[in-house]
Amino acid sequence: MDLKELYRDVIVDHNKHPRNFGKIDHADAHADGHNPLCGDQLTVTVKLDGDVISDVKFEGSGCAISTASASLMTEAVHGKSKQQFNSLHDQVHDMLTRHDSTIDPMSLGKLGALSGVREFPARVKCASLCWHTLQAALQNQNQLVSTE
Ligand code: ZN
Repeated sequence: MDLKELYRDVIVDHNKHPRNFGKIDHADAHADGHNPLCGDQLTVTVKLDGDVISDVKFEGSGCAISTASASLMTEAVHGKSKQQFNSLHDQVHDMLTRHDSTIDPMSLGKLGALSGVREFPARVKCASLCWHTLQAALQNQNQLVSTE
């Protein structure tokens, strides 16, 4: 199995069986995201322990890429501080959007599976929606995020 197949399997798995799907009761922060180009919609809820993301969930409906990306993100950011999240957000954004990205997808673990998205510019917003939405939630902007 080559890396492309492995990455494709990760996306398929996380779309079919999204992790941390649902809503946290009494969340400390939340935000809604919308990608009108594709119709992806999601709500992210976060529980904070000081500066650390102690729990994060998402719900909504979207395409396979947006669902898989949100599922992978919730796994990846669990237990991370806001600063660590911002750093990871920047690395993922770089990997998703820049063809000359110096980010090695392998260094991001399962999140590397999203690297194939940069070959499909129309899908970049599907993959980045959850990241923008969680970022807004952490900045306490409990507002609607639109990728437009
Ligand atoms: Zn989409």
